[in-house]
Amino acid sequence: MSVKKILDILEQEYHDTESALHFASVFQLLIAVILSAQTNDNQVNKITAPLFAEYPDCLSLSKLSAAELEQKIKTCGLYKNKAQNIAACCKMLLDEYNGEVPRDREALMKLPGVGRKTANVVLSVGFGEPALAVDTHVFRVSNRLGLANGKTPDSVEQQLCSVIPRAKWAQAHHWLIWHGRRVCNAQKPKCSECKLAALCPSVVE
Ligand code: SF4
Repeated sequence: MSVKKILDILEQEYHDTESALHFASVFQLLIAVILSAQTNDNQVNKITAPLFAEYPDCLSLSKLSAAELEQKIKTCGLYKNKAQNIAACCKMLLDEYNGEVPRDREALMKLPGVGRKTANVVLSVGFGEPALAVDTHVFRVSNRLGLANGKTPDSVEQQLCSVIPRAKWAQAHHWLIWHGRRVCNAQKPKCSECKLAALCPSVVE
């Protein structure tokens, strides 16, 4: 298995891809990623379009109570928890960071509703830092391709970061997500259409 060959093919196929979430600032990206847990990106975009039009930044969004936020995001999975987390997150950002999103993984992970994956997305997509966020697609596709062999997102992240050049971490996140969405689906991977089939140990004939 050649990691370089796999990455070259992924890059060729998905070089023009980026986050499917819509956002106009790192703060909006953070809120969109919190909302995206167990909710697809299109649904998140439908929620954030009117939300960010009215409340574009931390200060304005912080004016909403958790109960008011619930009403705005109730088409989202786990919306009650997410409303609580977003309200508390805005408060912490205002209290401790003057309403700005910190460019630091440890600080990000102290924010309510922010785990390692969300922090890595904010760092890589929002700030352009080298970080490789492992979501459900990245986890599944990298295990199938043999780029990783891990049981947890953290172990897959470590393994991916050890085989993928640092300069490609942020892009590889997008490539693996889009390959998972378009070809290497969870239930029925389209192996017969997959450009990686000759290199993949999980190919289904
Ligand atoms: S060959 Fe099949 S299992 Fe392997 S990456 Fe392609 S779609 Fe996924």
